[in-house]
Amino acid sequence: MKFLYYNSRSVLHIEDVDLLSLAEKHKTPFYVYSRAEIIKNCNEILSTIGPIDVLPCYALKANFNPVLLDTIISQGFGVDVVSGGELFFASQCGVPPEKIVFAGVGKTEEEIEEAVKLGIHSLNIESESELNTVAKIARNLQKTIAIAIRVNPDIDAKTHPYISTGLLSNKFGVAKTMALKLYQRAQALDYVDPVGIHVHIGSQIQAVDPYLATVTFLKDFISELKVSGIDIKHIDLGGGIGINYENQYNPDGVPRTYIQEILPGLIKSLRNENKKILIELGRSIIGSAGLLITKVLYIKNSPQKKFIVVDAAMNNLIRPSLYNAYHQILPLRSGQENSEKVDIVGPVCETTDFFARDRLLPLVNEGDYLAITGAGAYGQALASNYNLRPMVTEYLVENDQFRTIFKGQSIQEILHKFNL
Ligand code: PLP
Repeated sequence: MKFLYYNSRSVLHIEDVDLLSLAEKHKTPFYVYSRAEIIKNCNEILSTIGPIDVLPCYALKANFNPVLLDTIISQGFGVDVVSGGELFFASQCGVPPEKIVFAGVGKTEEEIEEAVKLGIHSLNIESESELNTVAKIARNLQKTIAIAIRVNPDIDAKTHPYISTGLLSNKFGVAKTMALKLYQRAQALDYVDPVGIHVHIGSQIQAVDPYLATVTFLKDFISELKVSGIDIKHIDLGGGIGINYENQYNPDGVPRTYIQEILPGLIKSLRNENKKILIELGRSIIGSAGLLITKVLYIKNSPQKKFIVVDAAMNNLIRPSLYNAYHQILPLRSGQENSEKVDIVGPVCETTDFFARDRLLPLVNEGDYLAITGAGAYGQALASNYNLRPMVTEYLVENDQFRTIFKGQSIQEILHKFNL
């Protein structure tokens, strides 16, 4: 199944759905996802992992739409959650508790209680105080909880500083010496079973080296723990495999994700460990599968710039505003030979409300449509109602069919939330 291509009439298609007619017949902006692309990414991960003992998890934070979640768990994935809300969604969508891992630096007592009651696979501990809280709750409930300590390996993932998580200057995990102390303490506690070790060094990682450095760190630390009488049963490597934002439309076959760049080497480095391996991937599963479709409202020229004002904004997709992130942008109808440098901006009242700056784009006119690619992960999930802009509809495509998987919000629904 082809994922993203122009047909003979130069119209962009996702699977066998004509995006131009979809855009002309439905309110823009909207998100549209390809089921085939999600499954392709899942299969690529599963086949690379091979026969070793791995629990592949989907990091729900990347996109929490329940239909997409259902698509991913039906491929055999467990789920990595970071809040009571995500735990609730995962349970409601039928993810078995033994396939749920729970991370995050600030879990509340209610969230921990829910995780203990459910009996999840493991809860990742990020501080001494959190361990104390978990121990108290498990004791009160008289129910044992499996835990992993999230270690901060102080390794540079060579990604954007805002999504780097494995340096000691980041808020995540605990340093090695503290981790050892926490394992010793956990081992002495009733109702707490220290079974695993957890790391997550960052997101949008494009090379295997930082992962290999992390594995070396983990192997050394696991040996040290063994000497202290602590026998770890699972290694949770976190997520972070990036996608190729520059080449989401890839007629030359350039891979859209860095799965092949990273996963085979990573798995190979762990082959002789004899431990269960967990991975928690978000972006590399769902990122390439989603597009944000938007309409050109106005074209305006300033003495220095040409601005293409579109109807999507930073409240729909905040990555460019937040990280200066690049998204490849495609016209829904191609064919314009000429191109020009433009800024693509949204209607929100912030100068950072842009999707591209000084981008060479084929000439577009008012009323044309554009596809912002690579928008499946951390797109709709980070959307807000800023400027009182309702969240937009999401469609899922399968072959030549599409269906609504989130109907979007109306402004009246938002008003009603204020009990007016
Ligand atoms: N695991 C943890 C603990 C995370 O914090 C994140 C992302 O922030 C992920 C997994 C998923 O990362 P990615 O979407 O880059 O695979």
